[in-house]
Amino acid sequence: SSAFAGKTYAVLGLARSGLATVETLVASGARVVAWDSREEARSQVAGKAELGDPMEIDLAGFDGIVVSPGVPLNRHPINMRAKLAGVPIIGDIELFALARPTLPPHKVVGITGTNGKSTTTALIHHIIEQAGYPTVMGGNIGLPILSQPPLEPNLKGAGVYVLELSSYQIDLTHSLDCDVAVLLNITPDHLDRYDGFEGYVASKARLFAMQSAGHKAVIATEDEPSRSVSTQICDTKGSGEDVVEVASTQVDTTEQLAWPALQGPHNAQNVAVAMVTAAVLDIDPVTTKAALASYASLPHRMQTVRTLNGVLYVNDSKATNAASTAPALAAWPAKDGKPRIHWILGGVAKSDNLDECAPHFGNVAHAYTIGEAGHMFADLLRPHMAVDDSEMLSAAVRRAARIAQPGDVVLLSPACASFDQFRDFEARGDAFAAAVAALE
Ligand code: ADP
Repeated sequence: SSAFAGKTYAVLGLARSGLATVETLVASGARVVAWDSREEARSQVAGKAELGDPMEIDLAGFDGIVVSPGVPLNRHPINMRAKLAGVPIIGDIELFALARPTLPPHKVVGITGTNGKSTTTALIHHIIEQAGYPTVMGGNIGLPILSQPPLEPNLKGAGVYVLELSSYQIDLTHSLDCDVAVLLNITPDHLDRYDGFEGYVASKARLFAMQSAGHKAVIATEDEPSRSVSTQICDTKGSGEDVVEVASTQVDTTEQLAWPALQGPHNAQNVAVAMVTAAVLDIDPVTTKAALASYASLPHRMQTVRTLNGVLYVNDSKATNAASTAPALAAWPAKDGKPRIHWILGGVAKSDNLDECAPHFGNVAHAYTIGEAGHMFADLLRPHMAVDDSEMLSAAVRRAARIAQPGDVVLLSPACASFDQFRDFEARGDAFAAAVAALE
């Protein structure tokens, strides 16, 4: 596209999306000055872009500083420097928003929330695809949005970009006008990056503030912060018409049984939101329900890995906080008064408690803790259940396999980030699958 011809951008952070950004900008005729603190990352842009640290170079005349969502902006000196130079700090989603006028007619659905973003994004994408429209997903999921070819309309109509947006990405976005913007839920997470919970809530609310009149906000109002966002949006939009409030109770639990990859109360919320979004996009409910039945779950999210000696092994590595682990513990209630879950948890804790999980402790037969938070969580759980402080994931799997009885479930749902022992949650899930495959 010609959206960036003659413009000048600094790109800070040259991981996957940063590299895609450099390539897109250069290809569309922009001048790019790229930087990463790691030498080997910098070497990847050699011959494509100029090198220069935005903390050192003169930023006068730059159209933007593109930073990766991994850079903790609240603690980064680039913030003040950019402000002084009058240059906006943006992300690849903002570049996508700026390039939209050069794209064929299309729509954008943006999805945010603390938990369930990936599932809901993949689900909405699947429904739109089944309805026959051109569609692609991006943002926090899949390939960087800038490296995807533009969607061409088909006989059915315009294409739909479905974007998963973390609050960090929203912070770096200033002009994304979503046709449908979705909020799933807000619970404390990532608070280290914000000045308290209110900053985190305000970040989510900005997604809706960017929408123009007539564009819809779909908000699951099942927690207090989400309700307050909804009220705030209704006030600023001047009419309640553009806001659709949604609740899990709108989903018929009997009907839900027909959607194998969407079980549990948390998925009722994801489904409720997806159904309303599909309706806003004029997709008929029959098509939507057929798509719910054919949806297949994403890897590392309540993914069945193996059944061995009557024991089910489930990989829920994506659950990186207590709120997202809670539904996994709720999924296998005790049978005849006997708890069945062998729960592997631990890693880098986001909080020093497991409060959201506590109501389901009765479903846990035995816990196996790993990683940095292992000792702390072992101490915390011991009054409630049998606990092994296994330290390593592979040891936890072997130990659980020895103790579990037929009918039991060995569940990796860590309630923690992974980076003390693994590259990311995918590597952790893969390591679990490998350890399970090695059992006999
Ligand atoms: P995200 O992309 O927001 O991290 P995912 O869809 O990948 O969310 O799900 C992450 C974890 O959160 C999963 O382990 C799942 O069990 C749990 N989860 C999914 N949807 C919800 C929801 N609506 N509310 C609470 N927890 C959820």
